[in-house]
Amino acid sequence: MDRLLEDLQYIKGVGPKRRKQLNRLGLNTVFDLIWNIPRSYFNRDNVNRITELRDSEASSIKGKICSTGTTRTRSGMIIFKALVQDDSGAITAVWFNQPFMSRIIKPGQDVFLSGKPRMFSFSGMEFNVSEYEVIEDKDTYFKVLPIYALTEGLSQRMMRSITLNSIRDYLDYYPEVLDKNLRKKYNLCPIDYAFSNIHFPNSREAYRQARKRLAMEELFLFQLQIRQLERYLPKDNYVIHQEKTDLVKRLTSELPFQLTKAQKKVVNEIFADMESPLAMNRLLQGDVGAGKTAVAALAMAKAIASGFQAAIMAPTEILAQQHYTALERFFSGYDVIVARLTGGTSGAERRLILEAVRSGEIDLLVGTHALIQDDVVFHRLGLVVIDEQHRFGVRQRAALSDKGNSLDVLVMTATPIPRTLALTVYGDLDLSVINELPPGRKAIKTYFIKPQRRQQLYQFIYEQVHNKAAQAYIVCPLVEESEKQDLQAAVSLYEELKTGVFSNLKVGLIHGRLKPTEKDMAMQMFKQGKIQILVSTSVIEVGVDVPDASIMVIEQAERFGLSQLHQLRGRVGRGHRQSYCFLIADPRNEEAVRRLQAMEKTNDGFKLAEEDLRIRGPGEFWGVRQHGLDGLKVANLSKDHKLVELSRVLAEEIKQDYMNSQLEKYITLKFKKSNQVAPN
Ligand code: ADP
Ligand code: MG
Repeated sequence: MDRLLEDLQYIKGVGPKRRKQLNRLGLNTVFDLIWNIPRSYFNRDNVNRITELRDSEASSIKGKICSTGTTRTRSGMIIFKALVQDDSGAITAVWFNQPFMSRIIKPGQDVFLSGKPRMFSFSGMEFNVSEYEVIEDKDTYFKVLPIYALTEGLSQRMMRSITLNSIRDYLDYYPEVLDKNLRKKYNLCPIDYAFSNIHFPNSREAYRQARKRLAMEELFLFQLQIRQLERYLPKDNYVIHQEKTDLVKRLTSELPFQLTKAQKKVVNEIFADMESPLAMNRLLQGDVGAGKTAVAALAMAKAIASGFQAAIMAPTEILAQQHYTALERFFSGYDVIVARLTGGTSGAERRLILEAVRSGEIDLLVGTHALIQDDVVFHRLGLVVIDEQHRFGVRQRAALSDKGNSLDVLVMTATPIPRTLALTVYGDLDLSVINELPPGRKAIKTYFIKPQRRQQLYQFIYEQVHNKAAQAYIVCPLVEESEKQDLQAAVSLYEELKTGVFSNLKVGLIHGRLKPTEKDMAMQMFKQGKIQILVSTSVIEVGVDVPDASIMVIEQAERFGLSQLHQLRGRVGRGHRQSYCFLIADPRNEEAVRRLQAMEKTNDGFKLAEEDLRIRGPGEFWGVRQHGLDGLKVANLSKDHKLVELSRVLAEEIKQDYMNSQLEKYITLKFKKSNQVAPN
């Protein structure tokens, strides 16, 4: 298999220049190239006659270029046009903003084009090109041609020939992990056949078979990865927590509220798992504000009362701090020592904490992924809680549970995950759901507004804050490319508001560049009402709890995904006030409009998650990247339900026979990027 890790330069047709271009596409090895699945195909058999084209129907045509020309519109858009003729008639083909097309498409050439015809009342029908292909005699023997993602200087033709060479020269080295019997049993084709036909399909049926095998390959490798991680968990020394403990009873009666029915139900499910000798592996799912923290606190109390240590890991410093404060308060008056460990913990303090965790003096350790570092050693860890787990990868979850023997694991998420996705990501996790919010919550009113109405909005906020003692968050978006720009946007909005409309209110600022103690301080001041309006970058995204905050303003809301918007909105509506969420946006594309409208329509996280999956597909679904699911290039989790089920069966079958170092290497290779934490 090592041959597959060879540098691309060893492939015929690839020199230093090509190699750089391929690198730019994220392709570094032969393995990457083989898994570089075409994004679509040209079917040369499947062409429409020009005179039979119909308005707005995706079509392909084949013809000769008669003439070409480039024009520029008043708004500065460059349009390249070519008149194409087949034996039925002619049509003008149009490329927008691709000035270089004039160097590629020339009169006299034969071409395939696919795209959409558009009817105009003044100029008749035009053909809006999405894919093109210049036909040359020598390469016409494949009926169906792959279309790959490209980068500047790299043509489809070049990409195809490089891919073809790599398939010819390297497929022999590709590991076949399914023997003949298994392939026959599940009706799967051999792996080399699959790769040949996903790139250069011989027929529709061959393509179907190829796709099925590769989707399956990805899914069961993923399943094996999960099982492989579980395999390392030792199965002796079972952790059994005590059935009835005084501590839990007293803490429950001292809560400032009655647990909801749903909370009671999940507490019972969790307790039953904890009392059994089998290791708990449970996912607690509950919408934002459903009260997962109280449930986790009771579970940790049970562990501690049973003589174990407990740990809770959160994805951000702010959230870890918040849990720490809440849990300290929760356990105050009892003989429970709570400590906090994050990336910001100073060297001396850190040493003291590690020492006390090792000796068992500390009962409960709260922190960020600082908890999974090697030198964090527990005396007797019995329960691990992972909050907002979609921000952590499979390996991080495993790393924390590895710090004890067969301990109980509770992972919590506010992101409702469709069943197929859950099965894929978690393998054999049990599921508990809090399907009810604490009583007295008023539905948050959500409005999508244009930036032009900002002054009106500020007026409303001013009245709410000044006259009714409301508190507001104003969130500026994360600009992916540059944290600096992010900061600038937040800082300048803060300055503007502080000196302008809100000059006699207390305005604060919080962002990712602040030191942990500074972030803490800002959050504390907001909690205590010493800050009335908190301007922030999207650092507050997860889990922060300030019950009196009732207004959430999200700037440039079109930049956020649906789940993120829902999470942000969940910061308000936690107390008894009527809460509001304002989404300021001027969206250019329809997808963004649909997202914002979905937010206006419902407060239900489950419905939004389904809508999100529908709008964007699972490739972009929140949290997918962290799980390494972006390693899935062929499988489609929203469509391949059956394959997902089958992959679980197959993974079980293969597990016994094939779990060897070769297979482990293969799995790591396929999901190599899955070992990362999401940025805050
Ligand atoms: P999440 O599930 O999003 O983590 P939290 O645990 O932060 O939600 O709880 C949200 C808020 O609801 C907190 O202020 C918490 O004290 C409160 N809360 C939790 N359970 C109840 C309950 N049963 N009744 C009233 N308030 C509750
Ligand atoms: Mg929470």
